[in-house]
Amino acid sequence: MGFLALYEESRDEDASPDEDEGRILPEISENELLNLLKLIPEQHFTQPPPRYTEATLVRTLEEYGIGRPSTYAATVDVISRRDYVERKDKRLIPTETGKIVNDLLVQYFPDILDYEFTAHLEDELDDIADGRMEWHSFLGEFYAPFEKQLENARKNMPRIQQEEYVGRECPSCEDGQLIIKYGRWGKFIGCTNYPDCTYTEQYLEYTGIRCPVCGDEHGGEVVERRSRRGRTFYGCSRYPQCEYSAWKLADVRRDAGLPPEEDEAVIQDEAS
Ligand SMILES: [Zn+2]
Ligand SMILES: [Zn+2]
Repeated sequence: MGFLALYEESRDEDASPDEDEGRILPEISENELLNLLKLIPEQHFTQPPPRYTEATLVRTLEEYGIGRPSTYAATVDVISRRDYVERKDKRLIPTETGKIVNDLLVQYFPDILDYEFTAHLEDELDDIADGRMEWHSFLGEFYAPFEKQLENARKNMPRIQQEEYVGRECPSCEDGQLIIKYGRWGKFIGCTNYPDCTYTEQYLEYTGIRCPVCGDEHGGEVVERRSRRGRTFYGCSRYPQCEYSAWKLADVRRDAGLPPEEDEAVIQDEAS
């Protein structure tokens, strides 16, 4: 899954912050999008395998030699944060966004999305880290073909924008609608009149756990938030009135008197 890091870095260079905010990839016309969405189910001929949980996903990455213990937690975090997957009963279900991004990446970056290529790449990176391989020649061999694919994708990859309405009017311009947008650090709420209206709100991801401090008295709920440096933490929906916070969901569950979740324990063990 090293491609996710590469993909993000390449976007950073060529997109201005404004372009980067709020869209997964730049625009596409309605008909193109419909055709693309129609195409996707037809490409999946075989019965899909059972959906991964975080634990089985990590185990599978291990089997394929993709990623390293230090990157598993980040990988799972990134695919959730960017809404490539959503959780249902601990299973990670690909979202429409996830399917579109995956199909486009497989089409435009076949090497990097290939299991064996990625596993081999990880081995070579290990060799460099251990001083058994020289990094200049490695990077040259990797980057020349990658640069060509990048150039091709820049020119030819269809431009897609998905919009998800919040169902409220913009309180700032009182004309636009609030929509969910995707920025560098995940979801946020913005206005359909952007760039004329730059109103934004934090998007709150509810955990379904009552705030251990004020839940009983005031009905506060624990929500997922992101620190300025992009780290996920948990806080109270009533912030700033209630300042409860914790770094890990496991801590929140403990504070709320709930039993720990099995899958989390597995991921943390394997990642540390
Ligand atoms: Zn507005
Ligand atoms: Zn609270």
